[in-house]
Amino acid sequence: MSDRNAVTNTESPSAAPFFPIITPHTATNGINSTIRPIDMRRNNASLVFSTLFPDRQLSRADIARATGLSRVVVSEAAATLISKGFIREVGPQPSSGKGPGKRGTLLGTNPERLRLLSIDLSQPHLIQGAILNLFGQTITRAEITLGASDQFTVSDVDDLIAQLLRSGQHPVGIGIAAPGVVKNESNVLSYTYSQWHNTDLREPIEQKFGIPTTVNNDAASALMAERCFGQGGPNLLFIQLARGVGSALLINDMRVAGSNYAVGEIGHIPARQDGPQCSCGRHGCLDAIIGTPVLRARMQGHPSDCERIIAQAGRDLAAALSMPVAMLDIDDICVYGPSDIVNDTFISAAQQQLTRDTTSVLHPRTIIRRCQIGGDIVIRGELIPILQMSLSRL
Ligand SMILES: [Zn+2]
Repeated sequence: MSDRNAVTNTESPSAAPFFPIITPHTATNGINSTIRPIDMRRNNASLVFSTLFPDRQLSRADIARATGLSRVVVSEAAATLISKGFIREVGPQPSSGKGPGKRGTLLGTNPERLRLLSIDLSQPHLIQGAILNLFGQTITRAEITLGASDQFTVSDVDDLIAQLLRSGQHPVGIGIAAPGVVKNESNVLSYTYSQWHNTDLREPIEQKFGIPTTVNNDAASALMAERCFGQGGPNLLFIQLARGVGSALLINDMRVAGSNYAVGEIGHIPARQDGPQCSCGRHGCLDAIIGTPVLRARMQGHPSDCERIIAQAGRDLAAALSMPVAMLDIDDICVYGPSDIVNDTFISAAQQQLTRDTTSVLHPRTIIRRCQIGGDIVIRGELIPILQMSLSRL
């Protein structure tokens, strides 16, 4: 649990940030559509849940003040959330010290009841998954090691889910994070490390297991983890350095998906015209100059030159990001990657380049920093789309 979200029972509700990121989009079919009462109830319940997620404790009156909802609406939403196991009553509100007035009951999320099943398809040589509670803590986990080809099929994903379900847990939803372009939380349009093309993962898995399922881009899942369990604010550019370079973008707590569901797919954008040829045929793509396999091969070939290679990689990344930073007025960039590459040398060189390129009277200094969340970042982040899906079906 991050310090930023640490629970204090005396926390002022007006000071308590909450995450509209959890709130599902209201189902409408255009600007003239009317909002159905059931959508309104779901949105209210999501808003109430957001004030408490992941580990905040507030009374119904506190939530009403924080959200602007009426006490009656908050009570109705809380009753629904309690009955479904999303939240629970955790005890009486501490005395305010202002006399014997009636104390409210504190509400909090319920880590004992709801379970969520999260799958991460982004790692090399294995696929992994876990069943989590609402705090993002692991109840049970499993993995399947891939063969020499490093490839897997939908059937392997089925096997991993079945393995996790044999623990006897009953998750309310399944979330799958895949490194590729994902359409409508369902179809993997292109999968970065396989021949998958417009592969529907959601429907077959929902049919097989009878559990609501959502599919999302892995960098977007990691971004959600940084926002909800890490240090990220409502405006955040998240960079993931793995086999390739991926990214995800949060603006005013809304994840930007793009016209073709491909926001963040920056790996094959040339950053240096004179750079080495990439697997896609172009020269100087980010993947080809700062992807982790490329950097590791370069360091193995020049072991006495590692510091310079890593510093140059930091500068290359920052130079590539300077335009989107200025265009979107981003002030926080979080970089996730292995510690032998995204180290102090990398971040320091990237910060110097970024400050040089983007800081002006119009744009204050943008911070670039290393992500502090560990190796389960994608699994934990996938919890957020599972919650969004579950709340939208209340
Ligand atoms: Zn390329």
